[in-house]
Amino acid sequence: MQGKIGNKAFVDKTLNDNKLYAKKKFGQNFLTDQNILSNIIDAAKLDKDTLVIEIGPGLGALTERLCNASGFVLAYEIDSDLIPVLKNNLSEYNNFEIINKDILEVDINKDIDLYKKNYKNVTLVANLPYYITTPIILGLLSKTALIKKYIMMMQLEVADRICGKPKTKDYNALSIAVCYRAKATKCFNVPRSVFIPEPNVDSAVISLDLYDNPPFKAKNEELFFKLIREAFSQRRKTLVNNLVNVYKKDIIIEMLNHFNIKLSVRSEELSISDFVSFSDYLLDKE
Ligand code: SAM
Repeated sequence: MQGKIGNKAFVDKTLNDNKLYAKKKFGQNFLTDQNILSNIIDAAKLDKDTLVIEIGPGLGALTERLCNASGFVLAYEIDSDLIPVLKNNLSEYNNFEIINKDILEVDINKDIDLYKKNYKNVTLVANLPYYITTPIILGLLSKTALIKKYIMMMQLEVADRICGKPKTKDYNALSIAVCYRAKATKCFNVPRSVFIPEPNVDSAVISLDLYDNPPFKAKNEELFFKLIREAFSQRRKTLVNNLVNVYKKDIIIEMLNHFNIKLSVRSEELSISDFVSFSDYLLDKE
Protein backbone atom coordinates (compact mmCIF):
# COMPACT_ATOMS: atom_id res chain seq x y z
CA MET A 1 0.00 0.00 0.00
CA GLN A 2 1.42 3.39 -1.03
CA GLY A 3 1.56 6.27 1.47
CA LYS A 4 0.71 9.97 1.18
CA ILE A 5 3.82 11.47 2.83
CA GLY A 6 6.83 10.23 0.85
CA ASN A 7 6.47 12.28 -2.32
CA LYS A 8 7.98 15.51 -3.54
CA ALA A 9 4.80 17.63 -3.60
CA PHE A 10 3.78 16.59 -0.05
CA VAL A 11 7.27 17.19 1.39
CA ASP A 12 7.57 20.61 -0.31
CA LYS A 13 4.11 21.67 0.86
CA THR A 14 4.63 20.43 4.45
CA LEU A 15 7.94 22.29 4.76
CA ASN A 16 6.43 25.47 3.26
CA ASP A 17 3.17 25.42 5.22
CA ASN A 18 5.02 24.93 8.50
CA LYS A 19 7.86 27.37 7.70
CA LEU A 20 10.32 24.52 8.17
CA TYR A 21 13.52 23.76 6.33
CA ALA A 22 15.66 20.62 6.19
CA LYS A 23 18.32 21.02 8.90
CA LYS A 24 21.79 20.02 7.80
CA LYS A 25 23.02 19.69 11.39
CA PHE A 26 20.48 16.86 11.91
CA GLY A 27 21.24 15.17 8.58
CA GLN A 28 17.74 15.85 7.28
CA ASN A 29 17.14 14.47 3.77
CA PHE A 30 13.52 13.50 3.28
CA LEU A 31 12.59 10.49 1.15
CA THR A 32 10.22 11.21 -1.72
CA ASP A 33 9.91 7.88 -3.54
CA GLN A 34 7.19 5.34 -2.79
CA ASN A 35 8.99 2.56 -4.70
CA ILE A 36 12.08 2.90 -2.50
CA LEU A 37 9.83 2.93 0.57
CA SER A 38 8.11 -0.26 -0.69
CA ASN A 39 11.51 -1.91 -1.20
CA ILE A 40 12.52 -1.02 2.38
CA ILE A 41 9.26 -2.44 3.74
CA ASP A 42 9.72 -5.64 1.68
CA ALA A 43 13.30 -6.06 2.94
CA ALA A 44 12.14 -5.68 6.57
CA LYS A 45 9.61 -8.58 6.28
CA LEU A 46 7.29 -7.04 8.88
CA ASP A 47 4.03 -8.30 10.30
CA LYS A 48 1.57 -7.28 13.01
CA ASP A 49 3.59 -9.29 15.57
CA THR A 50 6.57 -6.99 15.06
CA LEU A 51 7.51 -3.95 17.11
CA VAL A 52 9.50 -1.55 14.93
CA ILE A 53 12.12 0.86 16.24
CA GLU A 54 12.61 3.80 13.88
CA ILE A 55 15.35 6.42 14.13
CA GLY A 56 14.64 9.86 12.69
CA PRO A 57 11.05 9.67 11.38
CA GLY A 58 11.40 13.19 9.91
CA LEU A 59 8.08 14.06 8.24
CA GLY A 60 6.86 10.46 8.56
CA ALA A 61 7.32 9.02 5.04
CA LEU A 62 8.75 5.75 6.33
CA THR A 63 6.80 5.81 9.62
CA GLU A 64 3.50 5.84 7.72
CA ARG A 65 4.48 2.71 5.79
CA LEU A 66 5.79 1.07 9.00
CA CYS A 67 2.49 1.76 10.83
CA ASN A 68 0.67 -0.08 8.04
CA ALA A 69 3.06 -3.03 7.91
CA SER A 70 3.87 -3.67 11.60
CA GLY A 71 2.20 -3.91 15.00
CA PHE A 72 3.66 -0.77 16.56
CA VAL A 73 6.31 1.84 15.75
CA LEU A 74 8.52 3.43 18.40
CA ALA A 75 10.27 6.34 16.70
CA TYR A 76 13.06 8.58 18.04
CA GLU A 77 13.27 12.08 16.57
CA ILE A 78 15.77 14.65 17.87
CA ASP A 79 14.24 17.71 16.16
CA SER A 80 11.43 19.09 18.34
CA ASP A 81 10.25 21.36 15.48
CA LEU A 82 9.22 18.26 13.53
CA ILE A 83 7.17 16.59 16.29
CA PRO A 84 3.82 18.46 15.85
CA VAL A 85 4.07 18.20 12.05
CA LEU A 86 4.88 14.51 12.24
CA LYS A 87 1.98 13.81 14.61
CA ASN A 88 -0.35 15.72 12.29
CA ASN A 89 0.90 13.82 9.22
CA LEU A 90 0.32 10.52 11.04
CA SER A 91 -3.06 11.47 12.55
CA GLU A 92 -4.78 8.48 10.86
CA TYR A 93 -2.67 6.03 12.88
CA ASN A 94 -2.75 5.08 16.54
CA ASN A 95 -0.01 2.42 16.59
CA PHE A 96 3.04 4.62 17.06
CA GLU A 97 4.87 6.64 19.70
CA ILE A 98 7.28 9.46 18.95
CA ILE A 99 10.04 10.01 21.48
CA ASN A 100 11.65 13.44 21.16
CA LYS A 101 15.19 12.36 22.10
CA ASP A 102 18.66 11.86 20.70
CA ILE A 103 18.96 8.14 19.84
CA LEU A 104 22.53 8.17 21.14
CA GLU A 105 21.28 9.14 24.61
CA VAL A 106 18.36 6.77 25.15
CA ASP A 107 18.12 3.67 27.32
CA ILE A 108 16.99 1.47 24.45
CA ASN A 109 16.49 -1.72 26.48
CA LYS A 110 14.25 0.07 28.98
CA ASP A 111 12.15 1.58 26.17
CA ILE A 112 11.80 -1.70 24.26
CA ASP A 113 10.85 -3.53 27.46
CA LEU A 114 7.95 -1.09 27.95
CA TYR A 115 6.47 -1.91 24.54
CA LYS A 116 7.56 -5.36 23.55
CA LYS A 117 5.25 -7.55 25.63
CA ASN A 118 2.59 -7.68 22.89
CA TYR A 119 5.05 -8.45 20.06
CA LYS A 120 7.12 -11.44 19.05
CA ASN A 121 9.87 -9.61 17.15
CA VAL A 122 11.72 -6.33 17.42
CA THR A 123 13.11 -4.91 14.16
CA LEU A 124 14.85 -1.60 13.55
CA VAL A 125 13.98 0.18 10.30
CA ALA A 126 15.48 3.59 9.56
CA ASN A 127 16.66 6.08 7.02
CA LEU A 128 19.57 7.08 9.25
CA PRO A 129 20.97 10.56 9.85
CA TYR A 130 24.26 10.01 7.97
CA TYR A 131 26.46 12.16 10.23
CA ILE A 132 26.11 9.62 13.06
CA THR A 133 25.62 6.32 11.20
CA THR A 134 28.59 4.57 12.80
CA PRO A 135 27.96 5.58 16.44
CA ILE A 136 24.27 4.65 16.07
CA ILE A 137 25.00 1.18 14.71
CA LEU A 138 27.93 0.33 16.97
CA GLY A 139 26.11 1.82 19.98
CA LEU A 140 22.94 -0.21 19.45
CA LEU A 141 24.78 -3.45 18.65
CA SER A 142 26.76 -3.19 21.86
CA LYS A 143 23.87 -1.98 24.05
CA THR A 144 21.01 -4.28 23.08
CA ALA A 145 20.37 -7.85 22.02
CA LEU A 146 16.61 -7.22 21.88
CA ILE A 147 16.68 -5.91 18.27
CA LYS A 148 17.19 -9.00 16.12
CA LYS A 149 17.03 -7.39 12.68
CA TYR A 150 18.12 -4.00 11.32
CA ILE A 151 17.11 -2.55 7.94
CA MET A 152 18.93 0.73 7.47
CA MET A 153 19.53 3.25 4.74
CA MET A 154 22.91 4.98 4.86
CA GLN A 155 25.58 6.53 2.69
CA LEU A 156 26.58 4.01 -0.02
CA GLU A 157 30.24 4.11 0.95
CA VAL A 158 29.46 3.21 4.57
CA ALA A 159 27.09 0.42 3.46
CA ASP A 160 29.87 -1.03 1.31
CA ARG A 161 32.34 -0.81 4.18
CA ILE A 162 30.01 -2.60 6.60
CA CYS A 163 29.39 -5.39 4.06
CA GLY A 164 33.07 -5.49 2.99
CA LYS A 165 34.74 -8.90 2.89
CA PRO A 166 38.40 -9.62 3.85
CA LYS A 167 40.99 -8.77 1.18
CA THR A 168 38.76 -6.12 -0.42
CA LYS A 169 39.25 -2.36 -0.22
CA ASP A 170 36.00 -1.97 1.75
CA TYR A 171 36.97 -4.32 4.59
CA ASN A 172 37.90 -2.42 7.76
CA ALA A 173 37.33 -2.08 11.50
CA LEU A 174 33.65 -1.23 10.93
CA SER A 175 32.99 -4.39 8.87
CA ILE A 176 34.55 -6.47 11.64
CA ALA A 177 32.80 -4.67 14.51
CA VAL A 178 29.40 -5.14 12.87
CA CYS A 179 29.95 -8.65 11.48
CA TYR A 180 31.18 -9.83 14.88
CA ARG A 181 27.54 -9.69 16.02
CA ALA A 182 25.43 -9.83 12.85
CA LYS A 183 25.22 -11.08 9.28
CA ALA A 184 25.40 -8.01 7.05
CA THR A 185 23.80 -7.98 3.58
CA LYS A 186 23.50 -5.18 1.08
CA CYS A 187 19.86 -5.02 -0.09
CA PHE A 188 19.89 -2.31 -2.81
CA ASN A 189 21.34 1.05 -3.84
CA VAL A 190 19.37 4.28 -3.67
CA PRO A 191 20.12 7.26 -5.94
CA ARG A 192 20.56 10.69 -4.35
CA SER A 193 17.77 12.09 -6.57
CA VAL A 194 14.98 10.62 -4.39
CA PHE A 195 15.61 12.96 -1.45
CA ILE A 196 14.70 16.53 -0.60
CA PRO A 197 17.18 18.16 -0.34
CA GLU A 198 19.39 16.04 -2.58
CA PRO A 199 22.50 14.89 -0.64
CA ASN A 200 26.01 14.91 -2.15
CA VAL A 201 26.25 11.11 -2.01
CA ASP A 202 24.29 8.06 -3.12
CA SER A 203 22.81 5.71 -0.54
CA ALA A 204 22.14 2.02 0.04
CA VAL A 205 19.94 -0.10 2.25
CA ILE A 206 21.54 -2.91 4.20
CA SER A 207 20.17 -5.55 6.54
CA LEU A 208 21.81 -6.87 9.70
CA ASP A 209 20.57 -10.14 11.16
CA LEU A 210 21.82 -10.62 14.70
CA TYR A 211 23.37 -14.04 15.30
CA ASP A 212 21.42 -16.21 17.75
CA ASN A 213 24.59 -18.21 18.32
CA PRO A 214 27.46 -15.85 17.51
CA PRO A 215 30.22 -17.66 15.58
CA PHE A 216 32.83 -15.55 17.40
CA LYS A 217 33.26 -14.72 21.07
CA ALA A 218 36.18 -12.68 22.34
CA LYS A 219 36.98 -13.25 26.02
CA ASN A 220 37.19 -9.49 26.51
CA GLU A 221 35.07 -7.58 23.98
CA GLU A 222 36.36 -4.18 25.01
CA LEU A 223 39.88 -5.33 24.17
CA PHE A 224 38.69 -6.89 20.88
CA PHE A 225 37.06 -3.63 19.72
CA LYS A 226 40.09 -1.59 20.77
CA LEU A 227 42.37 -4.01 18.91
CA ILE A 228 40.47 -3.75 15.61
CA ARG A 229 40.36 0.05 15.86
CA GLU A 230 44.14 0.16 16.29
CA ALA A 231 44.78 -2.55 13.67
CA PHE A 232 43.06 -0.47 10.97
CA SER A 233 44.13 2.97 12.21
CA GLN A 234 46.49 3.51 9.25
CA ARG A 235 45.61 1.47 6.22
CA ARG A 236 48.96 1.67 4.47
CA LYS A 237 50.83 0.27 7.48
CA THR A 238 51.31 -3.38 8.38
CA LEU A 239 49.49 -4.83 11.40
CA VAL A 240 52.73 -4.75 13.41
CA ASN A 241 53.29 -1.06 12.69
CA ASN A 242 49.71 -0.20 13.65
CA LEU A 243 49.79 -2.18 16.88
CA VAL A 244 53.12 -0.84 18.15
CA ASN A 245 51.16 2.19 19.37
CA VAL A 246 49.55 0.03 22.05
CA TYR A 247 51.69 -3.11 22.48
CA LYS A 248 55.40 -3.83 22.72
CA LYS A 249 56.77 -4.89 19.35
CA ASP A 250 58.22 -8.17 20.65
CA ILE A 251 54.79 -9.20 22.00
CA ILE A 252 53.17 -8.59 18.61
CA ILE A 253 55.89 -10.54 16.82
CA GLU A 254 55.61 -13.38 19.33
CA MET A 255 51.82 -13.42 18.76
CA LEU A 256 52.11 -13.57 14.96
CA ASN A 257 54.69 -16.35 15.21
CA HIS A 258 52.42 -18.20 17.63
CA PHE A 259 49.59 -18.13 15.04
CA ASN A 260 51.96 -18.81 12.11
CA ILE A 261 51.18 -15.50 10.43
CA LYS A 262 53.79 -13.58 8.41
CA LEU A 263 55.16 -10.44 10.08
CA SER A 264 54.35 -8.31 7.04
CA VAL A 265 50.62 -9.10 7.26
CA ARG A 266 48.16 -6.24 6.75
CA SER A 267 44.92 -6.05 8.71
CA GLU A 268 42.72 -6.41 5.62
CA GLU A 269 44.18 -9.89 5.04
CA LEU A 270 42.91 -11.14 8.42
CA SER A 271 39.51 -12.60 9.32
CA ILE A 272 37.29 -11.79 12.30
CA SER A 273 38.33 -15.05 13.92
CA ASP A 274 42.03 -14.04 13.59
CA PHE A 275 41.28 -10.84 15.51
CA VAL A 276 39.32 -12.76 18.16
CA SER A 277 42.33 -15.09 18.60
CA PHE A 278 44.68 -12.07 18.84
CA SER A 279 42.53 -10.33 21.43
CA ASP A 280 42.33 -13.51 23.55
CA TYR A 281 46.11 -13.94 23.23
CA LEU A 282 46.77 -10.31 24.24
CA LEU A 283 44.38 -10.44 27.19
CA ASP A 284 47.02 -10.48 29.90
CA LYS A 285 49.80 -8.84 27.88
CA GLU A 286 48.82 -5.16 27.95
N1 SAM B 1 12.80 9.14 7.97
C1 SAM B 1 12.72 10.40 7.24
C2 SAM B 1 12.68 10.13 5.76
O1 SAM B 1 13.10 9.03 5.36
O2 SAM B 1 12.23 10.99 5.02
C3 SAM B 1 13.87 11.35 7.60
C4 SAM B 1 15.26 10.76 7.45
S1 SAM B 1 16.56 11.95 7.65
C5 SAM B 1 17.82 11.21 6.67
C6 SAM B 1 17.20 11.65 9.29
C7 SAM B 1 16.27 12.00 10.45
O3 SAM B 1 16.96 11.71 11.68
C8 SAM B 1 15.86 13.45 10.55
O4 SAM B 1 14.47 13.51 10.80
C9 SAM B 1 16.64 14.00 11.75
O5 SAM B 1 16.03 15.08 12.39
C10 SAM B 1 16.73 12.77 12.61
N2 SAM B 1 17.86 12.75 13.55
C11 SAM B 1 19.10 13.30 13.38
N3 SAM B 1 19.89 13.06 14.43
C12 SAM B 1 19.16 12.32 15.31
C13 SAM B 1 19.43 11.76 16.58
N4 SAM B 1 20.63 11.90 17.17
N5 SAM B 1 18.44 11.06 17.22
C14 SAM B 1 17.21 10.91 16.62
N6 SAM B 1 16.91 11.43 15.40
C15 SAM B 1 17.86 12.11 14.75
